[in-house]
Amino acid sequence: MVENIVPEEGNRILGKDAQRNNILAARVVAETVKTTLGPKGMDKMLVDRTGNITITNDGVTILDEMEIEHPAAKMIVEIAKTQEKEVGDGTTTAVMLAGKFLENAEKLLDMKIHPTIITRGYRWAEEKSQGLLKELSVKVGSKEDLLKVAETAMTGKGIEYLKAKFAQIIVDAVEIVAENNKVNLTDIQIISQKGQAIENSELIQGIVIDKERINLEMPSRINEAKIALIEESLEIKGPETEAKISVSSPDQLQNFLNQEDAMLRSKVEWIKSTGANVIFVQRGIDDLVQYYLAKEGIYAIRRVPKTDMQNLAKATGAKIVSKLSEIAPSDLGYSGYVEERKDGEEAMTYVMGCKNPKALTILIRGGTEHVIDEVKRAVEDALGDIAATLKDSKIVSGGGSIEIELSRKLKEFASELNGRERLAVEEFASAMEFIPITLAENAGMDPIDILTELRAAHDAGMKNAGLNLFNNKIEDNLVNGIIEPLKVKTQAIASATEVAIMILRIDDVIAAKKPIGNSGKLGSMSGYD
Ligand code: ADP
Ligand code: MG
Repeated sequence: MVENIVPEEGNRILGKDAQRNNILAARVVAETVKTTLGPKGMDKMLVDRTGNITITNDGVTILDEMEIEHPAAKMIVEIAKTQEKEVGDGTTTAVMLAGKFLENAEKLLDMKIHPTIITRGYRWAEEKSQGLLKELSVKVGSKEDLLKVAETAMTGKGIEYLKAKFAQIIVDAVEIVAENNKVNLTDIQIISQKGQAIENSELIQGIVIDKERINLEMPSRINEAKIALIEESLEIKGPETEAKISVSSPDQLQNFLNQEDAMLRSKVEWIKSTGANVIFVQRGIDDLVQYYLAKEGIYAIRRVPKTDMQNLAKATGAKIVSKLSEIAPSDLGYSGYVEERKDGEEAMTYVMGCKNPKALTILIRGGTEHVIDEVKRAVEDALGDIAATLKDSKIVSGGGSIEIELSRKLKEFASELNGRERLAVEEFASAMEFIPITLAENAGMDPIDILTELRAAHDAGMKNAGLNLFNNKIEDNLVNGIIEPLKVKTQAIASATEVAIMILRIDDVIAAKKPIGNSGKLGSMSGYD
C-alpha cells in the first residue's frame, strides 16, 4: 500500500500531500514492529522469495529483510540500523518513537501549525530529554547490575530459562576483552554450532574457527602450537598467476612436473624452517602442499576469513604475513594447543590456551538454525548493551518507567513555554508514553489502566515505577533489576527526533532521473556510514 506512493519519473508530490504521504509511510513501518516490543512481544516470520524463513523479534532484522520501497519508510529503517550500530539494542523503541513523533506532528499540522514550529519544538524537547535522561540515570553499582542489564535485553527472546547463564557468559566475555572500559565487540566472536542443546553454549577463552583441518593425515591436535598466519595462496596456479606453458615432449612435461613438485615442497620446507606447526591460510592450499604439510605433521586450515585471521593474530600474537617468503620465526604466534573437535554436526578448530586472550569466542549451540539465529541476535543485543553500559557506567530503569518520567518532566517544561512550540513539546512528551502503552498492550493488559496507574505512581514521586512483566504489576523497576543502558534511550530519542524532523521538513518529493550518488543515504545525519 505504501510503495506505490513513490512518484513516477518526472512526477512530483508536493506540499501537504508529500508530507502526509511520508508520515503515513513512516507510521506504517513503526506499526509493523510495534507488536514485537518487550518481553511479551510477538515474533515475525519473514519469508524471502526463495522460501527461506527467519523467525525473529528483533526490530532491525525485520526491517532489514522487509522489502521497503518508500523513501520516508527507508529513512525510518536507517534509524534502526544506526541504533543497531551505535548501541546494538533498542531498535524497536527508536523506530516506534519516530513513528509516534510523526503521528503526533500530523495532529499539529491539522491545526495549521507550520512544520518549522513543530520541528523547533521537537528539537527543544529532544535537547531537554537528553539532559533529563542524564539526571534520571544512575551509576552502575556492581557486576550484578551488568548481569541484570544483559538479562533485561534478553527477556522474551526465546531463551528465558537460560537468561542467567547467557548473561554470565556475556558479562564475563566483555570484562575479559575490555580495556579501560572500552570494548571492541569484534574481539568477541560469535560462532554457532548445530547439534547440541542451547544450554551447552559456552564462553571459550580462545578462538574457534568454523573449519576442520584440510587433510586427515594431519595431526588433530598440536600442543605448544606455533602459529603462522599467511594471506597468500599456497598454490602454484592461483587464478591470479595462471600462466600458459607449452610442452613439446614427455621429458619436458616430466621436468616441468618435477619442478612444480620441488617448488611446492620448498614452500613446506620453508614453513618448517620457521618452526611453525600450525598454519592458517586466507586463500587456497594446493593438494600437494597439503600432502607435504601432513607428512611434516603440520596442522593447516585454508580459506580462513579475514576477521578470523585478525582475531587469531590478536589472541596468539602472530603477525599476518602477506607473502609466505616474508615470514620469519618472530612472526609466529603461540597457543597452548590447537585442536580439531567435533561435538556438533561439524568439526571445528579450537585455538586454546592463548597467552593474551584479548579475543575470544562465544559458542552458541542449538538444535536448529532458526533457534541458533534468534539466540545469537539476543546475545548480540545484550553484548551491545553491556559494552554501552561499561562506557559511561550509567543505567536507567526499564519497563516504560523512564519514558513516563520523561513524559512528565517534558510536560512541565512545556508549561513554561509561551509560543506554539509548546504544543509540539507536549506532543513529544505524549509520544514517550507510546512505549509503556505498547508494552502493556503486547502483554494483553489494558493500556489505559496501566497508563493511568503509571502516571499516578510517578506523580506520587515513584520515579522508577514501571511495568514489571514478570508479575504484570507496576513496581520500582530499578529495584527489580529491569534496567537498561542510558545510551539505549539517549540514542533512540536522538535519532528518532532527527528523522522525524527531516521528514517533516520535506514538502516536495521529486522523482530524480538518475540514481542519487550516495545511494539515498542520509548524508547529513550523524552516525551513518
Ligand atoms: P528494543 O528493540 O527496543 O530493544 P525489545 O523488544 O527488546 O525492543 O523491548 C525492550 C523493552 O522491553 C524496553 O522498554 C524494556 O524496558 C522492556 N522490558 C524488558 N524486560 C522487561 C520486563 N521484565 N518487564 C517490563 N518491561 C521489560
Ligand atoms: Mg531489546
